[in-house]
Amino acid sequence: MKPIHIKKEAFGPAMAKAMETYAVAGPVPDREDAKRRHLFRCLEKGETPDLEYTATQLSPKALLFPQAETMFRFKVPSGGKKAPFLEAESFKERPLAVVGIRPYDARAFDMLTLNFDSKDYKDPFFLKRCHQMVRVGLADTTLKDTNFSTACGTGPFDTTALDILLAKTEDAYIGTVITAKGKSFAAAAGFEAGSAEDTKALARMKQEAESRMRPGPDFSALADADTLDLHGEDHWARLAFSCINCGSCTFSCPTCWCFDIQDEVTGNDGVRLRLWDTCMTDLYSAHASGHNPRQERFKRFRNRFMHKLKYFPDKYGQGIMCVGCGRCIDNCPVGIDIRTIIGEMNAKAAGAAKAAGTAKTGGTDKATEAAS
Ligand code: SF4
Ligand code: SF4
Repeated sequence: MKPIHIKKEAFGPAMAKAMETYAVAGPVPDREDAKRRHLFRCLEKGETPDLEYTATQLSPKALLFPQAETMFRFKVPSGGKKAPFLEAESFKERPLAVVGIRPYDARAFDMLTLNFDSKDYKDPFFLKRCHQMVRVGLADTTLKDTNFSTACGTGPFDTTALDILLAKTEDAYIGTVITAKGKSFAAAAGFEAGSAEDTKALARMKQEAESRMRPGPDFSALADADTLDLHGEDHWARLAFSCINCGSCTFSCPTCWCFDIQDEVTGNDGVRLRLWDTCMTDLYSAHASGHNPRQERFKRFRNRFMHKLKYFPDKYGQGIMCVGCGRCIDNCPVGIDIRTIIGEMNAKAAGAAKAAGTAKTGGTDKATEAAS
């Protein structure tokens, strides 16, 4: 890992230089509400990622998995003499560098990849972007109270999903180049080499940021828990009581990947779109027959948390489907906190494990009873 040091006044020119080779995306004030919000988007010539931002309401997920994406276009000629034809959507050629992404949001990109690049299915739209993308992270030194990313195995300075990590100091961005892709980007941007002092400062900042974080929820009992025990209905109706199924949690979550596919046709021209969807709404699981296996609100609520905390870990063996960014907590209009749900599920799982252990060690093993 090579240290880098960019004086703040040199950052804008460095980005302009990088844009000669890369398309650049980053956090910028929202045009519609610049005072309150930043969002991630592709930047135009002359724009610079605003690395002084604190948080974004929406994650950068849309850069990899757009909210609305054209899959292809089609035309149905009139008169029935010619066959209908399809036209593939072309990709932009230049690789995209996402500059200023939080390290835990970059980890979320890896979770999305598990879904879109699997043994059974390789999504060409997602993969083209994913393989070309350069991730230039910005350490989170302005952590919100709702952030529990270290408990989820990542954190404000995690380098595992990044090509470059930057951290802001008073007058500079110091950091480290992690991968070959990062090295190419640093060269294209003309980033200056840093010193051993920068490396030490980065380590100090990491320790300081992590020490300020509150302990996260414990989900250690979930892996061995019985899925049907956790799925049982008694506690879900209570946990979901105030949920209005608005979907804010899923749309703002960097790891939620549900989508819908729709055709839009005007005259003889059509377009097939892939659009973000949310398992929190009843239409999501409605069958064409009219039957809906998740008609009740609590069943949709349960599905979201069971997917993140049990089905995903069981399927992929890579921890829970959550990077602890805290956005779902900040954006929920009724104050539902995923840390509370994790705590309740874990307590239920731990209680069931304890009861099973007691049954065995206490001489009341059901199998023994049944055999006698
Ligand atoms: S944001 Fe809150 S109210 Fe809305 S669907 Fe999610 S948990 Fe329910
Ligand atoms: S579930 Fe909530 S805390 Fe976890 S990654 Fe999604 S938005 Fe962030």
